[in-house]
Amino acid sequence: MGVKRRKLIVGNWKMNCLRDDAINLVNNIIDGAKDIIKDNKCDLLVCPPYTLLHVVNDIIKDSKIMLGAQDSDIVNFGAHTGDICAEMLKDAGCSHVIVGHSERRTDHGECSEFICEKAKIVHSAGMKAIICIGESEKERADGMTMAVISTQIDGSVPDSADAENTIIAYEPIWAIGTGKVATADDAEDVHDHIRSYIASKLGHQTATEMIIIYGGSMKPENAGELLSQDNIDGGLIGGAALDGNNFIAIAKSAK
Ligand code: PEP
Repeated sequence: MGVKRRKLIVGNWKMNCLRDDAINLVNNIIDGAKDIIKDNKCDLLVCPPYTLLHVVNDIIKDSKIMLGAQDSDIVNFGAHTGDICAEMLKDAGCSHVIVGHSERRTDHGECSEFICEKAKIVHSAGMKAIICIGESEKERADGMTMAVISTQIDGSVPDSADAENTIIAYEPIWAIGTGKVATADDAEDVHDHIRSYIASKLGHQTATEMIIIYGGSMKPENAGELLSQDNIDGGLIGGAALDGNNFIAIAKSAK
């Protein structure tokens, strides 16, 4: 019998929202999430910018909605002006941290080995790392998608990763914020490859239990088909997560 993995719907707010926007958005999500939580249908996670973590945590702390951060430094504490470390994120109420988002890889030159160190420090603080991987448009056109994904897993996923402390987010770069979404079949092919490759690296049991989510222009209109694929266990949502109704509509389409 197959393992039933719980669906996970993650809102990546990126560098958006001031305090009042965040309060409205998260209250909207809490209202909309009542049925989802009552039916115990799927897990919801919101990842606001650092400045709003405490604000959002105060509002969600008595709900089942979880709090995540969008990045972490590779060390804990010390003389690193402007950086935020994993222990601080844990202290602010986070259970999850996104690492290796393509915007970090591109805008901040983060390589897979650096992301692997981030995942390790997130684990050491007792949180789950959401490790993002994905190919560029050119890599896909050149037929390199599976090779790129395997290389990114080798570099970014620590040997200590398991299904408890790690979630993989497959985010084709060409689909992020562009409105171009991977077809459900194409996304499922890559998720299937990720699960097989994780099995060869970390073992069959870990691969079977690990949550692998899709990100890239997921919206209420396309979420149902994507989330019904065997190996797609949820979504990492950017733009559509800034509208509470859209975020909840996506979560409601998760079976
Ligand atoms: C993301 O930033 O992780 C993302 C998937 O963005 P969007 O949903 O806007 O494509």
